[in-house]
Amino acid sequence: MLRFIILIHFLIGSLVLWGCTTREESEAETSAPAKTYLQGDPAQFIFGTNLNNYIADPSVFTSQKLYLTTSVVISQYNEIEKYQKAVSKQTPSTKPVGPEEIIYGKEENLIEYSPYKTMNGKNYFKLGKKTQKEGKYFYYIFEELEDGGVRLVAIDSNKNYLVLNQDYIHLSVSEDKPLVSILHFHNFYTDGDKVLVAEYFTTSREPPKVNTVGNYNYLQGKNVAVNWNQTKPLVVNLCGKDLNEHADWVEESIGHWQKTLENRLDIQLVRKPLGCPPFSDLNTHNIYLIDGVKTAYDHINAGTTYTIRLNELIESDIFLFKHELYKYAKTYSPESYKKQFLRVVAHEFGHMLGLAHQFNPDIKSIMSYESIFELKDYDIEAVQALYPLRDTP
Ligand SMILES: [Zn+2]
Repeated sequence: MLRFIILIHFLIGSLVLWGCTTREESEAETSAPAKTYLQGDPAQFIFGTNLNNYIADPSVFTSQKLYLTTSVVISQYNEIEKYQKAVSKQTPSTKPVGPEEIIYGKEENLIEYSPYKTMNGKNYFKLGKKTQKEGKYFYYIFEELEDGGVRLVAIDSNKNYLVLNQDYIHLSVSEDKPLVSILHFHNFYTDGDKVLVAEYFTTSREPPKVNTVGNYNYLQGKNVAVNWNQTKPLVVNLCGKDLNEHADWVEESIGHWQKTLENRLDIQLVRKPLGCPPFSDLNTHNIYLIDGVKTAYDHINAGTTYTIRLNELIESDIFLFKHELYKYAKTYSPESYKKQFLRVVAHEFGHMLGLAHQFNPDIKSIMSYESIFELKDYDIEAVQALYPLRDTP
């Protein structure tokens, strides 16, 4: 069935989505595919999550300069011809990710928050890129509320004003980093195609500190270490009822990383069977098990992880694809299915910690596409180099 196809692409590249497949069925090696093609409904990526279109304090938009830093666009084309055209234009990148590809506070990405209009006694404000021509990028329309807060009610794109259903919007402001995210899901203006967009804004104008560590593949590039802040626990939620049915497996798999990182990084797993905020939320790092999404290629793509990095890793979430995992379940015995499930989780969590793929056939690694089911010496050394021992009293 090619009717439902998702195309994920990235307008600006500090975010990487890691398509993870089995080796024997994989495409050419790419250390950081900038684009990944999937089939399925983009709404699946936010289905069952807890959305919020309200910000109590809009001064985040006015008290400092904010720059668009990352956009994620997940599109569904209803017509195969349009999909093929889009795919043909966007061959997966074979270029390794490097700090130079990340855009920090470029003047052209400066955004502005300004009065938009007054209607029926209500004030509306507009947030968007200052220097770009109208229609090229999204403008967000906020309604000012009596309590001083604002809520996102519409977007303006290509001179189309679109009122949004609040079930398909999420706003978040990070607690300890100057970062704002906006997520919205809606139909295109024609053809019934759908799009899910998450945009991230930051005050950061600084490139990352380049910290060279050993001979390892990290998300930021070979030997370029960017990690989570080791002084705080990395809290990761297991989201939704379906994933929590496998919570023991997830905990067992990630437990191997926890053991490896003892006195280096505290990883806390929290079961959230009632759901979590969507992936764009800046204050939660989540693992989701979603249905009905698969890659456009014929290989098994059982999970994917994306990260956002400024001077450190600041945001990451993991998606596990139920439809793809079931292929393992159909192919293997229950014991083997569990092994495959644990392998996928361990591999994806390696990405969340900051590891990139390791495709050198001479190096055994959970970060390869080989049938490797436990952390290997390379994985332990790479992650321990990334997270040096903390001074503990
Ligand atoms: Zn991977």
